[in-house]
Amino acid sequence: MRPSFIKNFTLEQLEDWVRSLGEKSFRARQLFNHLYARNVVSWSQCTDLSLAFRKQLEFSAHLDALFVSGIDEAPDGARKYLFRLHDGNFIESVLIPDPPRCTLCVSSQVGCALGCKFCLTGSMGLKRNLETAEIVDQVCHALRDPVLGNQVNSLVFMGMGEPLANYDEVLRAIRIITDSNGLMFSHRRVTLSTVGLVPLMGRLGSETPVNLAVSVHAADDELRNELMPINRKYPLSELMRACREYPLAPRKRITFEYILLDGVNDSPKQAKDLVRLLEGARAKVNLIPFNPHPGSVYRTPREERVLDFQDVLRKANLTAIIRKSRGNEISAACGQLAAIGAGN
Ligand code: SAH
Ligand code: SF4
Repeated sequence: MRPSFIKNFTLEQLEDWVRSLGEKSFRARQLFNHLYARNVVSWSQCTDLSLAFRKQLEFSAHLDALFVSGIDEAPDGARKYLFRLHDGNFIESVLIPDPPRCTLCVSSQVGCALGCKFCLTGSMGLKRNLETAEIVDQVCHALRDPVLGNQVNSLVFMGMGEPLANYDEVLRAIRIITDSNGLMFSHRRVTLSTVGLVPLMGRLGSETPVNLAVSVHAADDELRNELMPINRKYPLSELMRACREYPLAPRKRITFEYILLDGVNDSPKQAKDLVRLLEGARAKVNLIPFNPHPGSVYRTPREERVLDFQDVLRKANLTAIIRKSRGNEISAACGQLAAIGAGN
């Protein structure tokens, strides 16, 4: 049997596991402290555990679920990590300093099955889901980065993959990341971005209070069908119903992400359609000018066009922020993560 990744376990699960090894359950809390508060790199650092138990851990549990294969730094300070997984696959995470925020963008799958037309990850197809430990370890590794590691204070599930398509592993990772004995991130500093897998949105809202971002990108079904094949399964009317019913704490809103594609979805009329679509939802909008990548048929709109689009939303009293692209020079911006051919 392959040893388990120790970072797959929530604290409760670790208690059961530790007991199954013949140890007292309080050892689990001690272990959690080593894994997350101390972020140890080897079992030998856990000197308060008996030598016999450490030997047993070495034999039955992997401490690392992934390995750093490379780090790129962009002129704007964004850092991209290339991680090698146990089976030889690769994934990427990106750390974006934007004081007072320093945000780590994590991956939830190797590739993605949903095939959005503008997204490089989508063009890879889905290789496999990540395990909980492979998600959590992206955070552990970034926290150890000597350059920015001690500044990481927020997390977004906006890297490779559709997090709700890997629901159980992602939810377990969120539990560990936000556990006060684990990585101790406040729920307010964790955001999950989805294309809108409607049945799972309801579940997410009932199981965790993390922030929700919804990739909308078009306000009419015809265009959204073309850009995002998932819209054929969950059209805008169903998506918006799920958004209106989503449980939100007072003053919280759903972030709607809207990529601006030149001449495709960026006209003032389409901005008005977006205003109409979002009526009745507690919404704010992030406008993301398209990040180009090799082989893509889309282009980034001129700045003036982006500002005009934003203006329409603002005049309708919607909060609309233009997300400037970060890490473009190292292909670390949204939708540019692919890790294709890594390690060759
Ligand atoms: N699968 C999820 C989360 C990962 S993608 C989702 O789609 O929401 C994170 C964000 O990057 C999404 O809003 C996605 O639409 C956007 N994105 C994808 N490709 C992009 C590109 N080339 N330029 C700008 N944003 C892009
Ligand atoms: Fe998958 Fe998100 Fe890319 Fe669409 S935008 S292909 S859902 S990662």
